[in-house]
Amino acid sequence: MNRKEFLKSTVATPLILASPFAFFEKGISKINSSKRMKFSFRPYTLELKHVFTVSAMSRTTTPVMLTKIEYDGLIGYGEASMPPYLGESHETANLFLSKVNLSKYKNPFELETILADIDAIDKGNPAAKASVDIALHDLIGKLLGQPWYNIYGLDVKKTPFTVFTIGIDTPEVVREKMKESAEFKIIKIKLGKENDKEMIDTVCSITDKPITADPNQGWKDKNYAIEMIHYLKEKGALYIEQPLPKEKIDDLAWLTEKSPIPILADEGVQRLSDIPKAKNVYSGINIKLMKSTGMREAHKMILLAKSLGMKVMLGCMTETSCGISAASQLSPLVDWADLDGATLIKNDLFDGTKIIQGKVTPNSLPGIGIKKLQKS
Ligand code: MG
Repeated sequence: MNRKEFLKSTVATPLILASPFAFFEKGISKINSSKRMKFSFRPYTLELKHVFTVSAMSRTTTPVMLTKIEYDGLIGYGEASMPPYLGESHETANLFLSKVNLSKYKNPFELETILADIDAIDKGNPAAKASVDIALHDLIGKLLGQPWYNIYGLDVKKTPFTVFTIGIDTPEVVREKMKESAEFKIIKIKLGKENDKEMIDTVCSITDKPITADPNQGWKDKNYAIEMIHYLKEKGALYIEQPLPKEKIDDLAWLTEKSPIPILADEGVQRLSDIPKAKNVYSGINIKLMKSTGMREAHKMILLAKSLGMKVMLGCMTETSCGISAASQLSPLVDWADLDGATLIKNDLFDGTKIIQGKVTPNSLPGIGIKKLQKS
């Protein structure tokens, strides 16, 4: 390779890597050094449109914590969504967030330092940590006047289709729920109780769209699992999430080797440090901001998983458009998305990322792309 060819081959990389730092530099040069951040939070309860049943439980509400960072006339919004089975609650989030003091930092652009400090306050509490991370990202984007997909250097047109989730239910209720799925291109079926085939057959009798499945660790036997995976593949399944309990490492690795479709870790992978050991067990991972402690670590997780040749899905809990819009900023980086969480609730507090022709499409508003609704 001569000098000219060498320069041609290297010029693209530094430009891509430099983009977030260039944005930060611009933002730092404009800040008013006397200002300090003010952090606040309050509990809220999401009401679900339907009883939501997965293999381990049913529920009609989800507790969330709403966070706010005020700085120099701007407000960054964040959210912690805490489905009860994950162990966080209004009480635990209240306790954790009471220890957050952002007034000691010079400015929001100390993102890495601030979020590493938040992470070190206590172990666990991933959703509470995410609520600070999201609010800080929203604030920084607003200070820069840019949506985060621009700061990351992503092409918003590359966002994948997002799935519409059908919880475990009777054929009558499944048929009713399917009426809301018209604008979605992929249907995700929750499995893991005794009616697996009935669930699959009911959905497939209504639509010929591609499907995915999520037993949420509900299958206990690897032979049953491989039989069901072949059945799903015949019905047009693209991939499957967490078929077996996360502790069954050997069985999951066996299944991944035998399966004709990718097997993704959901419950089996929470954070960045879980990824290397998941490499030989699963074909990919489902990343959720509420598990990863927010956008900062989710971004690192996507890049690490992709560098290891793993598939990446971006998922969610039932969340307001705040959490969903934050996740959508990262969506052009991933293979699959499951970001329908805000469509499953009755009392959203934000207007944000919309699902357009089956894709979670972030708007051009700065930050995570949300506006607070008047009623809140
Ligand atoms: Mg899942």
